[in-house]
Amino acid sequence: MPTTLRTSTDLSTVATRIWTPKRVLITRAAAGLEHTGEIIRRCEAAGVTDIQLLPGDRLTGLRGESERQTYALAKSSLAVVAAPPSALKPQPIPPSADWRIDLARGCPAHCQYCYLAGSLGGPPITRVYANLDDVLAGIGTHAGRGSVTSGTVERGHEGTTFELSCYTDPLGIEHLTGSLSAAINRAGRGEYGDRVQLRFTTKFDDVAGLLDLPHGRRTRARFSVNAAEVANRFEGGTARMPARLAALRAMAEAGYRVGLTIAPIMPVPGWQEAYGELLDDAAAAVAGVDDLDLTVELITHRFTPASRDVLLQWYPGTRLEMDPDQRAEKRSKFGGVKYVYPREAMTGMRQFFDTELARRLPAARILYWT
Ligand code: SF4
Repeated sequence: MPTTLRTSTDLSTVATRIWTPKRVLITRAAAGLEHTGEIIRRCEAAGVTDIQLLPGDRLTGLRGESERQTYALAKSSLAVVAAPPSALKPQPIPPSADWRIDLARGCPAHCQYCYLAGSLGGPPITRVYANLDDVLAGIGTHAGRGSVTSGTVERGHEGTTFELSCYTDPLGIEHLTGSLSAAINRAGRGEYGDRVQLRFTTKFDDVAGLLDLPHGRRTRARFSVNAAEVANRFEGGTARMPARLAALRAMAEAGYRVGLTIAPIMPVPGWQEAYGELLDDAAAAVAGVDDLDLTVELITHRFTPASRDVLLQWYPGTRLEMDPDQRAEKRSKFGGVKYVYPREAMTGMRQFFDTELARRLPAARILYWT
């Protein structure tokens, strides 16, 4: 995946990791849509020269001669499509938010534990939805409804929450799409009332285009962070940890509500020290910010049989532990299996984060542990 690596003394406004697709594919259904024009303009400005209008709505040319080639082709391509009606209806997304709104599906980064593996079928291309008005309409129709934050004692003050990063990293593609800023703008200007809150999480740092938006504190920008050893080893194509924390600070200083998504937590050797350092770095990043509203979400590593199969195809040499024998089985209410850490390990990690967050980062409010 070609990326631009820049260095700067001011990481708060200059991104360190920018994805540039090798090619952009536009389906027929997307071609005539207004937002597609904005996406083409942004892609051209980013230096993309291979922009193809497809004759139909099927994405073609995604398969290479091997799984490896297919992966590389897909991860270096951006598809501009019209979201089908089935993708437009907001779905509940506990424990993060009342509803899920998908601006895109897929992500250009290369995390070896990617939570999208196994839930999105086919080659891992990023599909951005060009019928943006239809996608965002769900915010208007579902404001005031929901059971994760709306009307609850613990999180009712957040209003009706809409998660924008369930199936993508919206900041990682924002310079090419403008979809995230459009959503932030509309919510911030009160288009959906004053009781909605957008949420997204990211492993990228290109926040410069978001800082001056009229966000009205109706968006919470969370940064997905991890112990440096885990991030450096397993999170290819993403911004490094100091850059993510600098971006978190920049967003908090711009008045956004912010958050840390600490995920996926892994009990790697020396994990207490490693995660302790992460919490100290996060505390330093938000020190002295006025009106700081900081949340923390704590998510331990897990995998399913399907995600394990896909990840082992994508990253055959991975050193990521995905051994069912070392895990406990957790069954969903629909009968699906997830492999999580055994109870004792989970309890130890949870106690650590409860204690150390209170001690090292007391400004943070824990939303959930899973
Ligand atoms: S940034 Fe998130 S969505 Fe993208 S590859 Fe990594 S885990 Fe997957």
